[in-house]
Amino acid sequence: KFSLAKKTAIITGGGSGIGKSISLTFAAQGAEVHILDLNIEAAKETVLEIEAGNGRAQAHLCDVANQKNVNEIIQKIAQQSSIDILVNNAGIAHVGTIETTEEADMDKLYNVNIKGVYNCAKACISEFKKNKGGVILNLASVASCVGISDRFAYSMTKGAVLTMTYSIAKDYIKDNIRCNAIAPGRVHTPFVDGFIQKNYPGKEDEMFEALSKTQPIGRMGKPEEVANLALFLCSDEAGFITGINYPIDGGFISL
Ligand code: NAD
Repeated sequence: KFSLAKKTAIITGGGSGIGKSISLTFAAQGAEVHILDLNIEAAKETVLEIEAGNGRAQAHLCDVANQKNVNEIIQKIAQQSSIDILVNNAGIAHVGTIETTEEADMDKLYNVNIKGVYNCAKACISEFKKNKGGVILNLASVASCVGISDRFAYSMTKGAVLTMTYSIAKDYIKDNIRCNAIAPGRVHTPFVDGFIQKNYPGKEDEMFEALSKTQPIGRMGKPEEVANLALFLCSDEAGFITGINYPIDGGFISL
């Protein structure tokens, strides 16, 4: 129903999890998809799946934390097509309280989760202005809103994703640029599987159940459910929506 025909979308972290699902969904609705990912093999896998469904996609090796790298790739894409949509999805997690979070952890989380959004949004906004409009969707988290226990650095960076969203939305509403965030609760992706394997070896099934029960709805979200919300917010049908944060969390924040 929500068509992205004739749109060009950049999706960071489209090689895995939520970003992969967003890439597949956008391509299925007609968008030309450009995946920027540090894991080029994973990004190429997503491209193959899109092409198998007759969609259009390209994979680009990119570290979103590296401004030069981001600028070069976005300029290259802009020479081929006029960019309409940016989904800032690439992100990394970290477990720890303020006491167990080292300075190097703070720098890494800042560089990917905050500077990555800054780099990609800054490069795309200058293209959007030339094209007389555009849409940015940022992957925040329930951690942006309430702070999650033992996730000090992650919560900090995701809080900043939200305030960057509001600030960009205000500054560029005059340029026909919409900017929104979505705040997922726990969604079953390799991000979650990796967390369980690393922190609870030998207790994977038990932990999967325990984590599912922390969501009021009794299960984790599916990447496709997040992708459907992303599709709506990036489509022209959401043309009156900007500067919002939309929780998609099985009731975690509100219940
Ligand atoms: P994931 O780990 O499955 O996938 C993340 C992708 O980003 C990977 O392909 C990875 O290679 C890429 N990536 C990581 N660092 C990068 C960098 N510096 N440059 C370019 N690409 C990079 O993650 P996911 O679970 O799909 O999460 C996606 C986003 O959603 C993240 O921003 C995450 O914080 C957010 N989120 C996830 C959940 C969840 O429960 N899964 C909940 C709330 C928010």
